[in-house]
Amino acid sequence: MKPEIIHRLQEIVGKDDVLSAREDLATYSYDGTTNWTGTPEVVVLPRTTGQISEIMKLASRHRIAVTPRGAGTNISGGSVPTRGGIVLCTVKMNRVLDINKTNLTAVVEPGVVLQDFNNMLAKENLFYPPDPQSFLGCTMGGTIAENSGGPLCVKYGVTKHYVLGLEVVLPSGYVMKVGGSTVKNRTGYDLVPLFTGSEGTLGVITGITLRLIPRPAARRTLMAIFDDMTLAGAVVSSILGAGIVPAKIEFVDNFVIRRIEEKMKIGLPVDAKTMLLIDVDGSEAAVESEADRILELLKEGGARIARRAKDEAEAALYWKARSAGFAAIYSAARTVIAEDVTVPRDRLSEYIQRLDEISRKSGFPIVLIGHAGDGNIHPSVSTDSTDKEDLERLEDTLTAIFEMALELGGTLSGEHGIGLEKKRLLSRALDPMAIDAMRKIKTIFDPDNIMNPDKIWENA
Ligand SMILES: Cc1cc2nc3c(=O)[nH]c(=O)nc-3n(C[C@H](O)[C@H](O)[C@H](O)COP(=O)(O)OP(=O)(O)OC[C@H]3O[C@@H](n4cnc5c(N)ncnc54)[C@H](O)[C@@H]3O)c2cc1C
Repeated sequence: MKPEIIHRLQEIVGKDDVLSAREDLATYSYDGTTNWTGTPEVVVLPRTTGQISEIMKLASRHRIAVTPRGAGTNISGGSVPTRGGIVLCTVKMNRVLDINKTNLTAVVEPGVVLQDFNNMLAKENLFYPPDPQSFLGCTMGGTIAENSGGPLCVKYGVTKHYVLGLEVVLPSGYVMKVGGSTVKNRTGYDLVPLFTGSEGTLGVITGITLRLIPRPAARRTLMAIFDDMTLAGAVVSSILGAGIVPAKIEFVDNFVIRRIEEKMKIGLPVDAKTMLLIDVDGSEAAVESEADRILELLKEGGARIARRAKDEAEAALYWKARSAGFAAIYSAARTVIAEDVTVPRDRLSEYIQRLDEISRKSGFPIVLIGHAGDGNIHPSVSTDSTDKEDLERLEDTLTAIFEMALELGGTLSGEHGIGLEKKRLLSRALDPMAIDAMRKIKTIFDPDNIMNPDKIWENA
């Protein structure tokens, strides 16, 4: 990168917030995936919207690629700077500007860490449900750009259901506001959900207004063990079919059960094929009766064990184990592709069965963990991307997984986005007219294709 560009960036944000040492650049060359890298030419850590506007004007003038970044925990290659250029990392914009208990809204900067936000809300007895399992590190900007979900989404919906308004710096440097702070807003086309889930390809999110809800009064955690994975899948459909929507229904397979036991010794049967973790929440009375009915359904559905967590401490242990699940999988192989194809919830059992067949046929171990309640169990394929032969077979295996999900009426991505990981498959999942419309929208906001290029689109 030309020294005058670096110099101008230093003028905009100050010398300390421009990184160009080799070691620093390496730190920003990868994200939560294990198979994509790209080294930026410079990293900037702005603190204000005005600074971001100046950075974007500079980048536009010189046609420099800009990759927005929060904590870099995404698992689709979204924050990997494939064309070098500038990584624009928002972690220093980390203020919660307002929590309004009457309006049930909050205004946050993009670099606020989700868990810090949740801790602040808990003190006010308020609740923001979207809970990607990277919550300890991921930023609000990253979760908006990825439209993140998590265990609670089965009952409460995903990030886009909570975003009321956004401030976005467009590639030209223009600061645009969309939406507002009202729960209802029917003023023209709704651009808020367009930017929510746009994966950093349309502009930099610099201000976020969120809808909050009151904290549920009571919560119970249930745990069930199955000796047959497909039975566990079928039970999820029968719980939902019985008209009960638990707050969470998570699926953990034998591999993860064994890893949890190795690390935490909480007494799980290591021979069990599947564990379901279920939370119900709401009023004390409703929680009790729903928990009773779910336990009945679990037993009728073939659970070897089905019971309540004995207390808050045991419940917390189960959920801690669940959120450590991905770490357990990632540490078990050199390369892990954490897939997130999603199927309609009444096809779960078939989905699990077909994944088992794909694993046997390909020889690749496929670990299953994730959000059974919304048909979004993550099949995680373990391999070694330095082995060329493995890599070719891996591509075929992933294609088989995508094709199977689409055949079952599912979708390419439930929550991780397209990024670099799935762009070769986009045309199989979307109507060509829809892809054309999306590309035209990209050109309106980003005519020079400097905003996170190479993501979502092939040959972009
Ligand atoms: C262990 C683990 C568990 C996970 N569990 C879940 C889960 O349960 N559910 C789920 O949905 N996801 C999950 N994820 C992935 C999830 O999408 C991310 O963790 C999170 O949403 C990304 O936040 P981040 O701050 O790390 O963003 P990054 O990874 O830095 O960026 C993500 C994308 O957003 C863009 N971006 C970042 N900030 C901005 C901004 N201010 N403006 C515009 N674009 C921006 C980037 O360019 C990139 O395309 C998990 C990841 C890990 C590693």
